[in-house]
Amino acid sequence: MHDVIIIGGGPAGLFSAFYSGLRKMKTKIIESHPFLGGKVHVYPEKMVWDVGGVPPLSGQQLIDQLIEQGMTFEPDLALGEKVNSIEKEDGVFKVCTDSNQEHYSKTVIVAVGGGIIEPKKLQIHGAEKFEVSNLHYTVPSFQRFVGKRVLISGGSHSAIDWANELAPLAERVELVYRKEELKGHEASIELLIEQGVHLHEQSSIQALTAAPSGDRIEQVVLEHPYDGIKQVKVDEVIISHGFNRDASLLNESPIDLDRVDDFFIKGTPLSASSVPGLYAAGDILHHEGKLHLIAGAFQDAANAVNLAKQFIDPDANARAMVSSHNERLDDHNKRLKKQRIANL
Ligand SMILES: Cc1cc2nc3c(=O)[nH]c(=O)nc-3n(C[C@H](O)[C@H](O)[C@H](O)COP(=O)(O)OP(=O)(O)OC[C@H]3O[C@@H](n4cnc5c(N)ncnc54)[C@H](O)[C@@H]3O)c2cc1C
Repeated sequence: MHDVIIIGGGPAGLFSAFYSGLRKMKTKIIESHPFLGGKVHVYPEKMVWDVGGVPPLSGQQLIDQLIEQGMTFEPDLALGEKVNSIEKEDGVFKVCTDSNQEHYSKTVIVAVGGGIIEPKKLQIHGAEKFEVSNLHYTVPSFQRFVGKRVLISGGSHSAIDWANELAPLAERVELVYRKEELKGHEASIELLIEQGVHLHEQSSIQALTAAPSGDRIEQVVLEHPYDGIKQVKVDEVIISHGFNRDASLLNESPIDLDRVDDFFIKGTPLSASSVPGLYAAGDILHHEGKLHLIAGAFQDAANAVNLAKQFIDPDANARAMVSSHNERLDDHNKRLKKQRIANL
């Protein structure tokens, strides 16, 4: 029996695990992938600038730091287990996974982001055969794009970010999007223009032309409603059309959760859900002031843990003390101090 089971090992789940350790709670993380880090694995080389107090760092560095912090109090881990349902019986939560495991806990924090995500594929017959060569749905490494002609399809934040990251490295970057406007921060859109990214508004990919060898895309055929068809020569193609989400956990669980659309848990700014003892943190949480960013996930996590702690022990403080006053961190503090002295 755990004090808290955290479902999801992304930024919200990992920070929840750190914080529940601070509050001396027996904690388990259950994550469907065999690894921790959540959605940040989609952008391991992208620079992340907007996490407070952290200088710009790559997605992969952020994952490493989140995991290091999340493991401080050595929570139990169940990796590679997809949670299928959450039930509440006699005041105890039963969390069942696809490997027929049952996990029991006094409280639950749901930190599943948008569910288990898969990139939306390009709906063009035969496109999948290029996935082993030059058709990409994520950008695991910038190296392969250096000096190349890169075409990115998509009009939202991720597509814009990738175009901006690759523009200084690639020979040429083309950004293709269906709408008249891009959906991104003003500064990022200005940067696209400053960096000479070629914009194809109101356009979409109609066909991929293979090289004579048949194993690579050589040209992309674009269609514009007024200008008609255009052929663009490419070395690499990146598709950023969003994600399909598996939200079966929320749809199939017998507990009666208030929801928004199919994908969000309707909660309070303190991360409470409509089910006592069950909390939501990170992208899954929905309320008027919710910030769907990593910075927002951290606040949700601390709020969720504080409520979970009080749910188990109503006499517990509503808030944890600041971390430097926490006796459980004493050993870590001593070790870090020794390291600092050794490095002088
Ligand atoms: C391309 C891109 C770039 C971004 N750039 C930034 C940025 O620069 N700055 C920023 O602040 N934010 C950025 N974001 C958003 C940020 O990644 C998310 O806000 C953040 O990851 C949310 O964390 P989370 O823990 O709530 O969810 P996630 O990171 O989605 O983690 C949820 C975890 O739950 C697991 N899970 C889901 N369902 C189950 C289940 N049934 N059973 C077990 N495990 C399950 C998933 O496998 C996943 O590991 C970006 C997002 C994308 C897609």
